[in-house]
Amino acid sequence: MTKPKIATTWLEACAGCHMSFLDIDERIVDLLDAVELTSTPITDIKEIPQVDVGVISGALGNEEELHIALKMRKQCKILIAWGDCAVFGGINCMRNFMDASEVLKEGYKNGVSTVNPEGIIPGGDVPALLPKAIPIDYKVKVDVYVPGCPPDPDTILYVFQEILQGRIPKVPVDMMRYD
Ligand code: SF4
Repeated sequence: MTKPKIATTWLEACAGCHMSFLDIDERIVDLLDAVELTSTPITDIKEIPQVDVGVISGALGNEEELHIALKMRKQCKILIAWGDCAVFGGINCMRNFMDASEVLKEGYKNGVSTVNPEGIIPGGDVPALLPKAIPIDYKVKVDVYVPGCPPDPDTILYVFQEILQGRIPKVPVDMMRYD
């Protein structure tokens, strides 16, 4: 049987969701036997090929992240929103109380530890901020929601095992938090 191909990416996020994947511990050996990991921060393969399952951690906060999310959606059959940032927007949404221009000023000019005498706010090479940080399903269709900050490793394993059984997983309520 062909192994299902999986791609993962992290957008506006910390590394916690991917660390939780590694926290599956030794059970990851059997999992990696059953699937083919393609583009992920773990393999460091950047180009997303056509895959069976795409996994996104992190919210959408800038144009580059939006581009990657749209690409992942196009390349995968089943899209998983992985972790509170992808599902709800998470901690990234703390910036939504101010305009994107104010966020840049706070980040590049006004921060208490910032030294920027010329007051330059980079543009061009730095992807433009979206007006607000948003959950990924504001822009792409999501098939499976896996909340948690981060999702518990047992929950992540459950989701992949369900997919390997040919089912679209629905995470039970009692698995929606980190134990
Ligand atoms: S959900 Fe939590 S652990 Fe996952 S990327 Fe967001 S802040 Fe990090």
